[in-house]
Amino acid sequence: MAKELKGLLVDYEFCSGCHACEVACKKSHGLGAGQYGVLVTKFGPFQKPDGRWEMDFVPHFGELCDLCADRVASGRKPSCVHHCQSFAIQYGTVAELAEKIDKTKMALFVPQGQ
Ligand code: SF4
Ligand code: SF4
Repeated sequence: MAKELKGLLVDYEFCSGCHACEVACKKSHGLGAGQYGVLVTKFGPFQKPDGRWEMDFVPHFGELCDLCADRVASGRKPSCVHHCQSFAIQYGTVAELAEKIDKTKMALFVPQGQ
């Protein structure tokens, strides 16, 4: 049976841009300056066709993300998921996360090499 892919689902409507996920990842993985498992990026502000302004913070996951394999193996949530006070990041199988996508401001990340 094929291995079930795991991923991270971000609901960036609720991301406050606090960067706690970045800090948690760097600390748990001993990453140095300029190294990130997750990096929070600001998009905007943009003016929409209806005249209103919009700005979002969106976490992006890079090559150093190993989905917190050691933490998960011991029954814990990935560090970024655990430390996000907005509950904006979920961990799970790609299949179960994909079923939770029900609006535009969500993004599903599937890391390489798992
Ligand atoms: S995903 Fe969560 S922890 Fe990361 S910046 Fe957004 S609100 Fe903060
Ligand atoms: S799942 Fe783990 S390794 Fe990946 S970004 Fe989150 S804290 Fe970093």
